[in-house]
Amino acid sequence: YEHLLEVERLQTRFETVDGIAQAVSDVSFHMDRGETLGLVGESGCGKSVTSLSIMGLIRWPPGKIVSGAIRFKGDDLLQLSPAEMRKVRGDRISMIFQEPMTSLNPVYTIGRQIAEMFRVHRQMGKKEAHDRAVEMLRRVQMPSPVKRAREYPHQLSGGMRQRAMIAMALACDPEILIADEPTTALDVTIQAQIIDLMLRLREDFGTATLMITHDLGVVAEMADRVVVMYAGRVVEAGQTRAVFKSPQHPYTRGLLRSVPRLGLRSETGRSRLKEVRGIVPNLYHLPEGCSFTPRCPEAMPVCKETLPRLTDQESGHQVRCHLYG
Ligand code: SF4
Ligand code: MG
Repeated sequence: YEHLLEVERLQTRFETVDGIAQAVSDVSFHMDRGETLGLVGESGCGKSVTSLSIMGLIRWPPGKIVSGAIRFKGDDLLQLSPAEMRKVRGDRISMIFQEPMTSLNPVYTIGRQIAEMFRVHRQMGKKEAHDRAVEMLRRVQMPSPVKRAREYPHQLSGGMRQRAMIAMALACDPEILIADEPTTALDVTIQAQIIDLMLRLREDFGTATLMITHDLGVVAEMADRVVVMYAGRVVEAGQTRAVFKSPQHPYTRGLLRSVPRLGLRSETGRSRLKEVRGIVPNLYHLPEGCSFTPRCPEAMPVCKETLPRLTDQESGHQVRCHLYG
């Protein structure tokens, strides 16, 4: 296989009483070993649905992966049985969420939940699994790990819960970590701590990370490459430095214009993507042409009629826009 993870022409939709919502229309990207890929876009652009598709967590009804492939080390995850996918999840590929309570069970201690990962995926005995759980808490710099291991999620602060969730996600040394807005719900000081922790753990574990965020500061600090999504499609992709230095797509340019001091660690200057003007697209009625047409300052007649293709620019930079032939 060529890449650690290869998402190819993924199409995921939701069929509801209101009609069919095309959450992900055509998404392709890849990740290599140890690399951090930033997946950015405003809420509803399909980034979370993309990650849930990778994790095998789209459930019918109402969700459905209609077409595409998600190859992990060359094998298409979409062809695996639910039992096979359960083995991949948490062991080879794991995920952390914005809200730790999504993955932490309120009725079990933190230590027991992390130990469970070793028991299920590594068939360890109780004592050994517990010791490894405490060791994991230490590696994520949980204060008083022995004591915290005996506590329940509600006894921990938000930042500590995030550390516990990261410990659980990394317990089995996965090859890919998917982090869906891991710092969004935290206050800025704790955000910075969690980002620092993730940077350190990346060195320590060498895990490839798919960082889903609408915080461009996080992307600038963490991502080697970035994929920008809009209305369920990739509109721009490339090396973070190249995309930030010369954004091509009008949407990306708008995003970056709304960020005052990019790449600098400024706790107050973190900018969010909702600042791009215009109305968020309706996924039930996507226009035939470019979805960004209603908000685009550079829209031309062709934009309304024809969907632009994602085309290769120099050195791996890709853009989906009629401005670039
Ligand atoms: Fe704007 Fe047209 Fe490019 Fe879409 S294709 S981003 S409407 S210029
Ligand atoms: Mg989301």
